[in-house]
Amino acid sequence: MGNDNPTNASNVRSDRVVTNSQGNPINEPFATQRVGQYGPLLLQDFTLLDSLAHFNRERIPERNPHAHGSGAFGYFEVTDDITDVCGSAMFNEIGKKTRCMVRFSTVGGEKGSADTARDPRGFATKFYTEEGNLDWVYNNTPVFFIRDPAKFPHFIHTQKRNPETNLKDANMFWDFLTTPENQVAIHQVMILFSDRGTPATYRNMNGYSGHTYKWSNKKGEWFYVQVHIKTDQGIKNLNNEEAVKIAGENPDYCGQDLFKNIKEGNFPTWTVYIQTMTEAEAQKLPFSVFDLTKVWSHKQFPLRRIGKMVLNENPKNYFAQVEQVAFSPSHTVPYQEASADPVLQSRLFAYPDAHRHRLGANYHQIPVNCPYASRVFNPSIRDGPMNVDGNLGSEPNYLSTAKSYNYTQASKPIQQHQEVWNGPALPFHWATSPGDADFVQARGLYNVLARTPGQQQALAHNVAVHVANACPEIQERVFAMFSRVDKTLGQSIKREALSISPRSSSQQAKL
Ligand code: NDP
Repeated sequence: MGNDNPTNASNVRSDRVVTNSQGNPINEPFATQRVGQYGPLLLQDFTLLDSLAHFNRERIPERNPHAHGSGAFGYFEVTDDITDVCGSAMFNEIGKKTRCMVRFSTVGGEKGSADTARDPRGFATKFYTEEGNLDWVYNNTPVFFIRDPAKFPHFIHTQKRNPETNLKDANMFWDFLTTPENQVAIHQVMILFSDRGTPATYRNMNGYSGHTYKWSNKKGEWFYVQVHIKTDQGIKNLNNEEAVKIAGENPDYCGQDLFKNIKEGNFPTWTVYIQTMTEAEAQKLPFSVFDLTKVWSHKQFPLRRIGKMVLNENPKNYFAQVEQVAFSPSHTVPYQEASADPVLQSRLFAYPDAHRHRLGANYHQIPVNCPYASRVFNPSIRDGPMNVDGNLGSEPNYLSTAKSYNYTQASKPIQQHQEVWNGPALPFHWATSPGDADFVQARGLYNVLARTPGQQQALAHNVAVHVANACPEIQERVFAMFSRVDKTLGQSIKREALSISPRSSSQQAKL
């Protein structure tokens, strides 16, 4: 028989006798209760109704965005001492290993969409540390499209479906990105339309914090930090035509690749680095340290190796361990804090809110999300739907004078020695930077692409085949935007786009 502890969720019978949801053995799997041989079915047939009703409720809301993804378990191992930068326990000893879970994903597509879509990839890691769960909710690109968080729903809508046609829509897509104040996205758009926009596999791509974080050491010194998780398998991309072909032939190509390689013992690994910056250095930057559309120069802020990540265990159950895994940048540990980057600040709220919606208020009780290496004790966090961990039994549900409680404030770092913010509430809208500032790094990337033969041409081609689906007015805005990066780039895109979708003379006359 199964486990007889009523509070234990793993109540599966070991004798494999099939039951209904209430543990009542089923006599025959496909029999229904019927009036006579040919009459209607009976409402009393709980086994049938139980099964049909549960089937109707199998799906939970898919993530919006990042609905489609794959995941695996593994560990992070410290390879270098960084206790001068970060006091988190997971870094306190060279060789220390922390179990982790990674979920890779695309962004815009629905749960059943293709792995090889041109899209950024999510690269989210949950570390089960002794100080609680830490999530690094990163992407495979070091920058993002927006820096005003209020634009996020607008932006994502333009990457998804037209509300009328329910189709992907090149006009919506480029209308948003070419609106002058949204052209802060140009750096990310360049990466997206380079061949890095279609990684060959999840194993062959990097992860980046993108955002600036604040890490501090045990002496109270603190640093702005960016994290880079670099693939040891090497960067490998698909070209546009390969990606489109695979999307049709095997839409789960990357998920299959990840599962197969781990199953065969070919464990993918990544080397983890940080870039650090002091507050004084940040004040001298030509852009804000909180600007998610910018990278920190590798030359000025060299990468410093901190550890290694290994994925060596496939999930046993996709729904339980991947569909239900819940990441948030606000799930953090002592000595690792969010910076004032406004997009990051908004994510601190939005992610747990998404989980409460998708999984319920007790999403932290789902095994994959349990901080099992630290464990939870909070007498006032009680009840709620799907409470399955015993709900702290008879423990008072407030801080009772009859009980004792332990706190760790004394040793927990505080941020009062960090930046000081002061001022009235302001309507802050982070539109375009003066002059060409938002195009400088995009141009830098265009020069980086020149180091690999054919990559500048691939960028122009990848934009051209996409924008060929837009109307002439939007196309002209796209050509003009890429011409601001480089004149030849704009011209190459125009030449190819117009050769794919030539304009009629009346269309031409309207421009
Ligand atoms: P570096 O020459 O030191 O670094 C260039 C970096 O460009 C590489 O290390 C690589 O980052 C990245 N890169 C190479 N090919 C591509 C590609 N096809 N798509 C996207 N990124 C690519 O120069 P800087 O640090 O001075 O940066 C110059 C430009 O490089 C920037 O304008 C930026 O656009 C781009 N870049 C910089 C990154 C950074 O963190 N400094 C990261 C990514 C891009 P990686 O090693 O992470 O793969």
